[in-house]
Amino acid sequence: MKKVGLGLLLSVFTFVGIAQEYNEKAEEYSKTITAEDLKKHLSIIASDKFEGRETGEKGQKMAMDYLIENFKSYGIKPIKEYGYIQTFDLLEQKTENIQLKIGEETFEVLKDFTVSPSVILKRAIESEIVFVGYGIEEGNYTSYKGLDIKGKAVFIMDGMPGKTELAGKWLMKDRIALAKEKGAIVVLYHSLKLKDNLIKYEHYYSTPKLTLKEDVKDKQTIVIASTTELTQTITKAAGLRWKKILRKGINSEKTKALTFQLEVNKPTEKLTSENVLAFIPGSENPEEVVVLTAHYDHIGIDGDKVFNGADDDGSGTVSMLEIAQAFQMAVKDGLKPKRSILIMPVSGEEKGLLGSKYYTNNPVFPLENTVANLNVDMIGRYDENHEEGDDYVYLIGSDKLSSTLHKVSEKVNELYTEIELDYTFNDENDPNRFYYRSDHYNFAKNNIPVIFYFSGVHEDYHKETDTVEKIDFEKTARIARLVFLTAWEIANRDNRIEVDGE
Ligand SMILES: [Zn+2]
Repeated sequence: MKKVGLGLLLSVFTFVGIAQEYNEKAEEYSKTITAEDLKKHLSIIASDKFEGRETGEKGQKMAMDYLIENFKSYGIKPIKEYGYIQTFDLLEQKTENIQLKIGEETFEVLKDFTVSPSVILKRAIESEIVFVGYGIEEGNYTSYKGLDIKGKAVFIMDGMPGKTELAGKWLMKDRIALAKEKGAIVVLYHSLKLKDNLIKYEHYYSTPKLTLKEDVKDKQTIVIASTTELTQTITKAAGLRWKKILRKGINSEKTKALTFQLEVNKPTEKLTSENVLAFIPGSENPEEVVVLTAHYDHIGIDGDKVFNGADDDGSGTVSMLEIAQAFQMAVKDGLKPKRSILIMPVSGEEKGLLGSKYYTNNPVFPLENTVANLNVDMIGRYDENHEEGDDYVYLIGSDKLSSTLHKVSEKVNELYTEIELDYTFNDENDPNRFYYRSDHYNFAKNNIPVIFYFSGVHEDYHKETDTVEKIDFEKTARIARLVFLTAWEIANRDNRIEVDGE
């Protein structure tokens, strides 16, 4: 938290001064969100015909068309210059056509090593390898003492025998970041777990990867993870003894010169995808926008298996339709929200939150006027911590950037929906790290207060068995009403909710 300034004191005062009140109209419109309608929509977009809605593929485009058609039917107007979509370019690559040669030996990708980023423009690099031990800097100590690594390939060892505390503090990602900072063009590192992971997640490693075209740069640092076998080969070629390394680490002064050659020429495919935009202009502060998101893409097909993604995130997607319709019914009755509402089913989520990332990098409405993001991802099922029929939802992030948002959210639930708000996954130390794992995170990263609505993972998560008949639509409707009513309050309250956290 930042230090408490006058602004915060005033805002807390204002909040207490204007208490949130029950609003009969809001409740009335929330009731137009029904289990029946949600089921009708989901039975369509999570059917086999939609082929698992994979980003850039036919099924995603079909879902997009379905969403637009419905938003139009509610009377939502297109946005100037955009219409109903924001289009973005993607690049797709398989992990192939990568040649790695160290010293005189060549090595095989996905057997001996992996390369990131997963999408790389054609590159050929030749360099010597500089061994930097564990690659850390702590107090007066530096692994880089007397070493110039600018424009070179460095090699970093995993773990840190006998110094577990320091190893825990210096995760590999921090060591890689340090090497990049010091100007390495390639960071090779030993990964103790790589071999096991390559076997365990073979499918993940071998599937093509997508990235935003705008994120692919000419001269990115290439990071190569090396199995223990490859690491042993490399260190041996450098004249080091493995047992000694394990005992004492690497003494970089004692390594023989070793050349590193990498050629990346991966076949590249260009794709486009879309975020869908349903914009409801506000009456008093139309420039201020409340953004609601749910990803409408899923993971597609594999052979004759269709991944329907009924819960992930068909449940959130059809909630967006019902919420838009509810707001639009109010508009037709002359009850426009004071602030604008952007209901945005995004794509590219399953490929790395790409649609929301593109939006926040290229916002349709300025981010400084974006009041909050409410994101819904998987709200139709029950997880192992709850019984079938339990009336709960996990809220994540609500108190992180705005204490007011958290209070608003709680009060809305108390006034209308009375669902058990479960904050288990809101804990910073929760190992699942859900706060970083859906589209709201791209908004939070930009200092926009968020709430993530989620009912947890289940045995059908990312399997072809995540199907419509397993969804509890009454439960989905109750959570969708909570999201609608919270958005209603944020859009209609006198003061914009303010950011007072970090
Ligand atoms: Zn999801």
